[in-house]
Amino acid sequence: MNDLLRFSESEIEKTQNEKLRAMLEMCSRGHPYYMNKWRESGVNISSITSLSDLELLPLTHKRALMEDPESFRLKLPDLPLHERVLWDVGYTTGSTGDPTPVYNTSHDYYAYLFQSKRVADISGIRPDDIIANLFPLTAAPMGAFVRSATNAYAVGATIFAALPGAAHGNFDVNRSLDEAVALIELHRATILWGIPSFVRRILMRALEINADFRTVRMCALTGEATSKPFREDLRNHLRQLKSAGTTMFDRYGSTEMGAFAQCVEDGPWHNPAPEIQFHEVVDPDTGKRLADGERGALAVTHLDRRGTVLIRFLVGDIVSMVRGPCPVCGRFGDRLVGPVVRTKDLVKVKGMLINPSALIETMNGISGIDEYQVLVRRTKPEDPFSPDELLVRMASTANHDHLSQVVIERVQKTVQIRPRVEFSPAVEIYDPAKHSKATRFQDQRPLNNE
Ligand SMILES: [Zn+2]
Repeated sequence: MNDLLRFSESEIEKTQNEKLRAMLEMCSRGHPYYMNKWRESGVNISSITSLSDLELLPLTHKRALMEDPESFRLKLPDLPLHERVLWDVGYTTGSTGDPTPVYNTSHDYYAYLFQSKRVADISGIRPDDIIANLFPLTAAPMGAFVRSATNAYAVGATIFAALPGAAHGNFDVNRSLDEAVALIELHRATILWGIPSFVRRILMRALEINADFRTVRMCALTGEATSKPFREDLRNHLRQLKSAGTTMFDRYGSTEMGAFAQCVEDGPWHNPAPEIQFHEVVDPDTGKRLADGERGALAVTHLDRRGTVLIRFLVGDIVSMVRGPCPVCGRFGDRLVGPVVRTKDLVKVKGMLINPSALIETMNGISGIDEYQVLVRRTKPEDPFSPDELLVRMASTANHDHLSQVVIERVQKTVQIRPRVEFSPAVEIYDPAKHSKATRFQDQRPLNNE
């Protein structure tokens, strides 16, 4: 494979400029949303000929895609069959309950295979790997579930699915935690691929029943943010299970843009395929591009898509970017630097804006907690005007008084709010038979009472 990531930044940019011109030309002929938007903003699209000109185009907000996803589909009857025909539909969840469809043509599916091959190459997934897909069956297909098979196909690896999660309908096809553990043993899985809190439960159960997990060498984690101490906890479980390896591959991505890849644990995320997507870090209010190293909103521009096409789309994450040869693997191209902060997740408690991810990271770093949940609620739930409280519910076999003290201290240090602490059984906080992932943070206050 001709690997663009082995070429210099200027070579990558040259390729991206060519792809951008072709993509914008297609949008100007057959993309209902952008044809309208650009007309309204008086943009002459043929004057946008390079990545630096792209800054002149308006940003696309997630709301616009959620309101009218059909208007984001390219409609060009003159394209060849494989560029027009629908292969599958991904769904992205917005702030409303209804998922938003993201359409993929055959062309887009092949592009995803191409991208997955690069991801595998960067993160060290091999043809001889046996991947356990531990993602749940959900009401709307979860991107990670559907795409796990494609990722295996791309590299020629083996994959099977455990099918955990709550039942939808009466078909009785879901499997229990113990059945998932047994399948991992049976297939001699090398990679556990799933939602972090569920992967942790799998490892906890495997230890309890002394399952044979010696072939496991990697956990690929998607769907929840993880922290260093959390990943260390997983590694600890793997060591006790005498597993072949303890690599934690933290996958970052979304339905709209596909996956990124780390070449080293805790490192930045490589854009695996700069020929199919361009990233910029922007000021979300003005649309101005920020310099490398500055933190701002991530905007993605598709350079070679045929189904749902997005230009300067605000993903909703705050990151920064680096470029130049990677000091670890030597690949070129843009790399995203964390911490990835989801802007929609910032919450106001007692008049202060707090970052739940930072709170979760703090909690994950405290040892002796089996399960936990942080809740924001009214002190008196029946009284909407009673003050907010931050409640930490925990399950633990450690000394409760000591643990309470540690939790109060650390949480207060992280968010400047003193939490109240409560203890309950693990299964009341997170029951893997009922929910696909643990809810670590929940705002239980009634809506619209700001
Ligand atoms: Zn690298």
